[in-house]
Amino acid sequence: MKKDKGLLEFDLLENGLDFIIFAINQLKNGGKNELKYGILHLSAGVDLVLKYRLSQEHWSLLFADINTANTDKLNSGDFKSVDSVGCIDRLKRICGIELSEKEVNQLKHLRDRRNRLEHFGITESVAALKSSTFKVLNFILNFINEHIDYSGLNETEESLLESIREQFRDFEEFIQKRLESLKPKIESHKRMTAVTICPTCYQDALVIDDGASCLFCGVSGDGEEMAGNFVFQILGISSYDTKDGTEYPIYECSECGAESLVHSRLEDEVFGWLCFTCGTEWSEQEKAYCETCGHPYSKSEYDIGMCSNCIEYRIG
Ligand SMILES: [Zn+2]
Ligand SMILES: [Zn+2]
Ligand SMILES: [Zn+2]
Repeated sequence: MKKDKGLLEFDLLENGLDFIIFAINQLKNGGKNELKYGILHLSAGVDLVLKYRLSQEHWSLLFADINTANTDKLNSGDFKSVDSVGCIDRLKRICGIELSEKEVNQLKHLRDRRNRLEHFGITESVAALKSSTFKVLNFILNFINEHIDYSGLNETEESLLESIREQFRDFEEFIQKRLESLKPKIESHKRMTAVTICPTCYQDALVIDDGASCLFCGVSGDGEEMAGNFVFQILGISSYDTKDGTEYPIYECSECGAESLVHSRLEDEVFGWLCFTCGTEWSEQEKAYCETCGHPYSKSEYDIGMCSNCIEYRIG
């Protein structure tokens, strides 16, 4: 079979790369207003590149409803195309490309940011936006390296890609310099309390000490609020989507009593259990869910699968 690119397929990659170039420039140099457009462009660019990969498998996968796919609609562009969530799902099921949980959450976070920007403007710090979008850029460049067939690129696409890489290196330098300058401060905090991944900028710079504040981007809040942000942005769980049986992983902390003990089930584990108010940390093995009441408890040497409250109740 001839493997000509359809009209739309051409547009997808070239436009996607074009958007990404715009985005990097805006994100790298921008004041707040440019950052806003940087995020809009980045979000659009990432979506297009992912869709392009899908179209390489088969163009009909671009249609939200594959049953309505036909070449006329494809060439005229007159159809409802697959949305971002559907696209990621098809990449996994049909192309065998599985994004990590972290990547899926970062993309979700980017879309969420884009939507908020459109309605409310920017509320996060410049450093936060730069750092979090940097991670997404890094992801999409890796994705292109691993999953896009270079032999199918035309000259424009090749040169776009080349300038993206160049611009990206400058951007990377900005992030690295900032991290480097903060390193001693972060290390000294680590000796005294818990430091974990910031839900706003994704840097390992969120200091927890009677609430949480990030050394990299400056975001701060009380422990309960930050625990909620972490679970939503990093673990990808909102209090609304516990319908499929996923437990909302925030509990009362046995040390300080705040509702801010987070159980991280992340694949590349950042911590097992961590309280975002007092900073107390337990490994995955140190806590378990009580078989009787379901609440997390700290296991003792003679663990019988039951929390102390339930044991007392039994004895009493
Ligand atoms: Zn931060
Ligand atoms: Zn606590
Ligand atoms: Zn119990």
